[in-house]
Amino acid sequence: MLNGQHYIAGEWLNGPDVFQADNPSTGEKLPTKFQHGTEELVDQAVQAANACAEEFAAMLPAKRAAFLRAIADEIDARGDEITEIGNLESALPAARLTGERGRTVGQLRFFADWIEEGSWFEARIETAQPDRQPLPKPDIRVMHKALGPVGVFGASNFPLAFSTAGGDTASALAAGCPVVFKGHAAHPGTSEVVAKAIEAAIKKTGMPKGVFSLIHGGTRKVGQALVAHPLIKAVGFTGSTGGGRALFDIAVSRPEPIPFYGELGSNNPVFLMPHAMGAKAVEIAKGWVGSLTMGVGQFCTNPGLLIALKGADLDAFVETAAAELGQVGGAAMLTDRVSSAYHHVTDAMAGHAKVTCALKRRDNDGPFEGSPAIFRTTAADWQANPELAEEMFGPAGIIVECDTPEEMVALSATLIGQLTATIHMIDADAELAGKLRPALEKCAGRILINGWPTGVEVCHSMVHGGPYPASTDSRATSVGSLAIKRFIRPVSYQAFPDALLPEALKDANPLNIPRLVNGKWQMPK
Ligand code: NAP
Repeated sequence: MLNGQHYIAGEWLNGPDVFQADNPSTGEKLPTKFQHGTEELVDQAVQAANACAEEFAAMLPAKRAAFLRAIADEIDARGDEITEIGNLESALPAARLTGERGRTVGQLRFFADWIEEGSWFEARIETAQPDRQPLPKPDIRVMHKALGPVGVFGASNFPLAFSTAGGDTASALAAGCPVVFKGHAAHPGTSEVVAKAIEAAIKKTGMPKGVFSLIHGGTRKVGQALVAHPLIKAVGFTGSTGGGRALFDIAVSRPEPIPFYGELGSNNPVFLMPHAMGAKAVEIAKGWVGSLTMGVGQFCTNPGLLIALKGADLDAFVETAAAELGQVGGAAMLTDRVSSAYHHVTDAMAGHAKVTCALKRRDNDGPFEGSPAIFRTTAADWQANPELAEEMFGPAGIIVECDTPEEMVALSATLIGQLTATIHMIDADAELAGKLRPALEKCAGRILINGWPTGVEVCHSMVHGGPYPASTDSRATSVGSLAIKRFIRPVSYQAFPDALLPEALKDANPLNIPRLVNGKWQMPK
C-alpha cells in the first residue's frame, strides 16, 4: 500500500535511486523501496512552496485552523495503519505509537485553537497625534507575519510527534509558512502515510498544493540543498549535535543567512539533594530507572547525568538502580546508527580511567540493541575530563559524586546548555536548591522539581530548548505555543489607510483578537 514516492506539491514522484528502511527488531530490510531525493526535487518543492507562501500567510486564521484540524482528523483516520508501519520501522511498541499519535493530533488541534485566539499576532496600535509638538506622531501599527517557506527535518526518535506532521510542521503551518519536509530514513513509510493524511486535508480544505511537500533523503545532499535553497526562510531540526551543527553552519553561511532552529543534544542533569536522599533514596532511584529506560532511553530529555553527595544514601540509591536496571535486558534501538553510537559512547565511558561501572551493559546480541548501564565518577574528575559530559543517547546514566554541597553548587555553574535540569528535594533542602537555581536558569530551558524530564507537555508555558548545544537558539522552543514565534517576524505599518491594513490591524478589529492600543490591552468582545 506504500508507494515509496516523494509527495511534491500535490504529485507523487520518483527519484533516481531507491533505499529500504530497516526493521530494527529483526535487522532485516523492509520490502518497500523508497525513492532517493535530489536537489532538483528539493527545488521543485521549494518553488511550489514559495508560489503559495503569500496566499497561505494572508489566509484568515480560521481557514488555516480548519486545515490543521483536518490533518489531525486524517491522521486519526489512518491510526491503525500508522501504528503498524511505525512499529515495523522503529520497533517502538504499539502503545507508545498510539500515545505519540494522540500527542501529534493534539498539538495540531492546539495550534488551530491558538491561531484563532489571535494574541500570537502581537498586534499593537499607536494612533496618530497630528497635533503633537514639536513634531506630529504618525499612526504606527505592528503585527507578526509568516517568514515564508520553512524546511523541516524529522527526528528518528519521534516518528510522529517530531516528524512529518510533528511540532515543527504544525507550528510552521500555524504561522502561515508552507513546509518542505525532509523525511527521516528510519521511518519513511510512516512519513508517507502521514503525508497522505496531509494530502487529504489539503484537498478537503482547499489549500494550495505547494503548502506541504515530503521529500525522502537517501543522500545527505537533499537536506543540505534544502537548507541552502535561497527561497527557504527558516529551518526546524531535531537530531544529533553533529548533524544539526553541520546544517546550522550551512544556514548561517548562505548569502542570505536564515534562522536555523536545531534541537540537539542534552544530558539533562538531575541534582539529588541530601535531605531528600536521606528520606527517600530508594523511591527516587525507582523513579530514575523508569525515566531512564522509557523508550530504550531514546529521548532528548533522558536524565543521563545525576549529581549527588557521596555517602551511604547515594550507595543505597545506586544499589537499587543497578538491581532494577539489571533486570532490563537489551531492546532494539531505533536505528543501526543510534545503536552503534550508544555502544561506542558507553564502551568509551566503561573504559575511562576516571569512571567506575556500577552496571555493565548486558545486551542479548539482538540487532540494533541497547541495554542499561550506570557509571560513577567524582565531581573533580567529571570537571577535569570534558568527554565524561558527552550525551549517551540511550538508557545510560553517569552519577557524579560531590564531597560537599558547595562542590555541588560549583559544579552547577559549569554545566553547558541543557534542555532540562531537575532538583529532587524536600523542604529541608530549600536553601541548597535556592543556591542552584541561578546556575540552572542560566543553562537550561526547563527546570523541574521532584519530577523526571521525559514527557514534554504541549502547552502554552512549555520551553523545549535551551542554550547551545541543547538548541541552536536559546530564545526559542520547539514545543508549545511559543514555538510559533520561530516562524514569524514583526512588520510595522506607518500611516496606512484602514483599507490597506491587514485584518489584524484594522480599526474595527474584524478578527476580534487581543491588541495593545496606545499602551493598553484591549481584549476581544
Ligand atoms: P541525525 O543523524 O542528526 O539525523 C537527523 C536528520 O538530519 C536526518 O534527516 C539526517 O539525514 C539529517 N542530517 C544529519 N547530518 C546531516 C548532514 N551533515 N547533512 C545533511 N543532513 C544531515 O539524527 P538521528 O539519525 O535521528 O540520530 C542520530 C543521533 O542523533 C542519535 O544517536 C542521538 O545521539 C541524536 N538524536 C538526538 C535527538 C534529540 O532529540 N536531540 C533526537 C534523535 C537523535 P540522513 O538520514 O540522510 O542522515
